Amino acid sequence: MSSLTVELRLGHPLEDIHPTLSNGPGWRIPFWTQGCSLRCTAHCLNPNFLEPSGGWIRTVVDIVGAIQNVIENSPHSVEGITMLGGEPTDQAEAVTFLFRAVRSLGLSTFLYSGMSLDQLYRRHGALLAETDLVMDGHFDPKRYSETASWRGSDNQRLHSMGSRYEGAELDAAFRRQGKSASVRLAPNGAFSISGLQSPKSLVHRSSQKVHQSVR
Ligand code: SF4
Repeated sequence: MSSLTVELRLGHPLEDIHPTLSNGPGWRIPFWTQGCSLRCTAHCLNPNFLEPSGGWIRTVVDIVGAIQNVIENSPHSVEGITMLGGEPTDQAEAVTFLFRAVRSLGLSTFLYSGMSLDQLYRRHGALLAETDLVMDGHFDPKRYSETASWRGSDNQRLHSMGSRYEGAELDAAFRRQGKSASVRLAPNGAFSISGLQSPKSLVHRSSQKVHQSVR
């Protein structure tokens, strides 16, 4: 099987993807994987993405094609993709292939995981080799932070995995972009929220499609 025909189970339709300033440095296209085996907290802010069934299954080549389509039609210069969940490492092979493919387009890759960086090195070295930024650790509602860059709670850590991002550059990007949420109204009337908000600010979760970066 070609690496491009490997399938990834997403928590949302591929047609919904769009760039935001809320999911890491620069304009980035966020993805949410479907399924989380870690179940680290009873206060997970992405409960819709916990079950390993359901969702939308697409091949890596389909996803890369959708990314290229967004880039061609976006008024913004897209810097990279961000993979959230669910737990992306539950589908580590597919995410690795996807990251490798988008890097070949010149895009950067940002991985959120409920695992620690040590655990990721032990279990998912191939994926880390294709990753520019890692946000590790689970979301702890007791340590929610309004100021921690692109993370929900201050126990989580942002790691630059290579030479693409320097710490000072990331700090400057976060100062420019701030902690924000992006709300998108789709042509069919559905709306989605992505980015970092106070947990208390999310209401009507069951009736809305909410993509939340806090984890
Ligand atoms: S916070 Fe992340 S790792 Fe924890 S249960 Fe939710 S999706 Fe899974």
